[in-house]
Amino acid sequence: MARTTPPRPVDIPAVFPELRDHVGTATRLHPRPGAPTVHGSSVGGPLLWPAQEPWPHCTDEHDYLPSPHRPETVRRWRRILGAAWGRTRRDEQLQLTEQEQAELPDLDDCAPAELGEQPIAMVPVVQLYRRDTPGFLGPDDTDVLQLLWCPLDHSDLGYNPRVLPVWRRAADVGELLSAPPEPLIVSESYLPEPCVLHPEQVREYEFGGLLPRELDKRILQWEQDMAERDADGEPAYSYQFDLSIAPGWKLGGFASWHLTDPGPMDCAECGTPMRLLLTAATYETNGPADSWRPVEESREPGEFMSLQPDNSPTAVEIGRGYSLWIFYCPVSFGHPPGTTMQ
Ligand SMILES: [Zn+2]
Ligand SMILES: [Zn+2]
Repeated sequence: MARTTPPRPVDIPAVFPELRDHVGTATRLHPRPGAPTVHGSSVGGPLLWPAQEPWPHCTDEHDYLPSPHRPETVRRWRRILGAAWGRTRRDEQLQLTEQEQAELPDLDDCAPAELGEQPIAMVPVVQLYRRDTPGFLGPDDTDVLQLLWCPLDHSDLGYNPRVLPVWRRAADVGELLSAPPEPLIVSESYLPEPCVLHPEQVREYEFGGLLPRELDKRILQWEQDMAERDADGEPAYSYQFDLSIAPGWKLGGFASWHLTDPGPMDCAECGTPMRLLLTAATYETNGPADSWRPVEESREPGEFMSLQPDNSPTAVEIGRGYSLWIFYCPVSFGHPPGTTMQ
């Protein structure tokens, strides 16, 4: 089933025609739990990886490991809780059977942190085939974008995973790596659940703080006027959350800087301002009433902002419910990526 973003509740370029100079296109990935294969686009799915190509490992010093777990422990924990959520109505408390309670791993019980001293196998995060991803980003002679990350915090990267984008040509892969190595330990937040994708292009507008100051000020005033009318029962919308930048996992488009205000994202190798490649998001929407919620999905009350599967299908959690914004250098896809958490 496709996922379709509803029309924006306000045609914002009709209100502010100058925004037509600050427009872009993002591809919302709409990840949903499934069973992706190496031959399909996915979040958290297996990668099309040549047998003769070494699997990437992270050799950074992992000096901040608040709660390391073995991946199989995390998967068992999620499988048991997932089954329980699956039979729980929205207005009910989650209840486990006695057997589930006995089998549920205690995530307070961590794996030995010393395991982080060994090289950590990176984990598949995103795989995008050019054929089913409008707006595909990558070198012209490639048709698969793969993103892996080291599933631990890195103190020199703002306590985020270290990311590794890889581009390749599917026709060149030949014999496939059948059993990629798994990391010895992961942070539970950085182990994506297997999801299939429903890519959809949407129009976006630049983050308010990066627009010409005078335009940003007029938009803020417009929002304020609308908020006053809201008291009389008219709905109010936010440029930031309803009209400019789509929430959730996406390819391309604009980054949102609502946490820190815009910071420079310049290429570490050549100094060129970078562009947004991918967004790994904790939440797919900003809540049940979010105007970005696909028309095919329910808006029942009672599922607000939870880490339940319907709003966090990938189970990835960035910081306290933020997103990881991953940038590329427009001069060369071979230059190192940049990341920020917002
Ligand atoms: Zn690492
Ligand atoms: Zn560069």
